[in-house]
Amino acid sequence: MKTQLHNRHFHLNYKQAGTLIAFLVLAIFVIRFLNAPKNKVPLTNKDKFEIGLCRGCSLVDSKSLIIDSDRGEYLDANLIKKLTILAGENKDWRITEAYPPTVQHLSFCHQNGTCADIALQRNLLNKERLSDLCRDALASGLTVVNEYGDLKYYFNNSFCPKPNIFETTTGGHLHVY
Ligand SMILES: [Zn+2]
Repeated sequence: MKTQLHNRHFHLNYKQAGTLIAFLVLAIFVIRFLNAPKNKVPLTNKDKFEIGLCRGCSLVDSKSLIIDSDRGEYLDANLIKKLTILAGENKDWRITEAYPPTVQHLSFCHQNGTCADIALQRNLLNKERLSDLCRDALASGLTVVNEYGDLKYYFNNSFCPKPNIFETTTGGHLHVY
């Protein structure tokens, strides 16, 4: 006995219906393939969060201040002045985050260029050098937040404030403004 699918407009036996479904599935794959975006640009960090305007920003002069590569190249002009004073006193550090920021920060100041993260050169990292950097940063008119979370970089008479985070991740830095 021949089983048939009935419809007001057409009728197919199961074999024909199976062929039709296979054809439709194939057609959908072909259409999807043809409509697929050709040059898909991967999202960078910068696309994942809002960056505010930096109204007081200037380009950081790479002759007087060192910024890690791809960590922004602008900062608020007043902040640049203080950092330039610090660079005149102390050469042990570089900027690890300028403007525009490369990651999302809790502090809004990173979104408008009025603060920066600085860090000791990796081969110079020890508690005495860090204390000296804090001393010189404070003397340059900077406010310092210690984000070197590993307590081995802190001691009682350090010029650095006590770290405000307590973790041993890499990427410790001073947040300055
Ligand atoms: Zn910061």
